[in-house]
Amino acid sequence: MADIIKLLPDHVANQIAAGEVVQRPASVVKELLENAIDAGASSIKLIVKDAGKTLIQIIDDGKGMSDTDARMSFERHATSKITTADDLFNLNTKGFRGEALASIAAVAHVALKTRPEGAEVGTHIEIEGSKIITQEVCATPKGTSLAVKNLFFNIPARRNFLKSNSVELRHVIDEFQRVALAHPDIAFAMYHNEGELFQLPKGNLKQRIVAIFGGKTNEKLVPVQEETDILTINGFVVKPEFSKKTRGEQFFFVNDRFIKSAYLNHAVTAAFDGLLPDRARASYFLYLKVDPATIDINIHPTKTEIKFDDEHALYAMLRSTIKHSLGQFSIAPVLDFNR
Ligand code: ADP
Ligand code: MG
Repeated sequence: MADIIKLLPDHVANQIAAGEVVQRPASVVKELLENAIDAGASSIKLIVKDAGKTLIQIIDDGKGMSDTDARMSFERHATSKITTADDLFNLNTKGFRGEALASIAAVAHVALKTRPEGAEVGTHIEIEGSKIITQEVCATPKGTSLAVKNLFFNIPARRNFLKSNSVELRHVIDEFQRVALAHPDIAFAMYHNEGELFQLPKGNLKQRIVAIFGGKTNEKLVPVQEETDILTINGFVVKPEFSKKTRGEQFFFVNDRFIKSAYLNHAVTAAFDGLLPDRARASYFLYLKVDPATIDINIHPTKTEIKFDDEHALYAMLRSTIKHSLGQFSIAPVLDFNR
């Protein structure tokens, strides 16, 4: 019988991988914001048009790329962040899969301008459906600007599958807020159709929360803090009387990465036991730090789920810490840790 198995061409493999990494404009926003943070940016700007359907642009003042790296960055499995599988258990970057830019470039028009510090000129690259159509030197500020236009231009089924602009914009804002909350030490700005949505100066965590959710948030927060051998917990829970019935603010960050965990959410809810009004949900901004060797982030390409070595211990610690903070707050409501 004749042989029938062939290796898929790169652009086809990239488009398949994109199916998992790039579901909607918000997924692009998340990947690009994370790249800017990994590049050491101190100020990051997000510009979006039509909820990201026609334009998503991220401008950072990070370390930039050489012209060779700029080209390489769009190759599949091309990364500067890990070199061996062992590195996966000692991660201090958001990225490591080397897939995002290759995936995005397979399903959109991409324009990159980048310049590392010390270089006199930068690099300008344009890509359409994985093919480089322009590469030239250019004048550009230190750092990187990446514009993603016409997402899913070559996959009409995916493009039609996108929701209304207001729904897609909501998702974009959610991703933006998650990243901004994880990094209060970085300045962020966001613009939609030329209007400014967020202007977030550098600050501490409390200032960042207030800058995003409004001045009234300040008096609603109860500080949470605990440090043990296996876990550090920092952040705030929202006083029970301000909890919401619908969509509350529920944020877990593990090692500065936003994650979703029904199990840890349950631990927080358990700590609020008896304090929440009927059917209300706890709101919280909780920052957990654990030894990277005790977690696995490589469960899904979007990296919003984590596998913990000792989930039960974390649950118990989280619950008792929050219970304690809520208890302290009710006897000494004037305490302000000013963090
Ligand atoms: P990953 O982030 O998993 O490494 P990406 O496809 O997102 O994979 O990016 C590929 C590489 O391109 C990164 O490892 C990094 O070296 C480079 N890169 C991407 N975005 C930026 C940026 N904003 N500034 C500097 N380098 C970047
Ligand atoms: Mg990345």
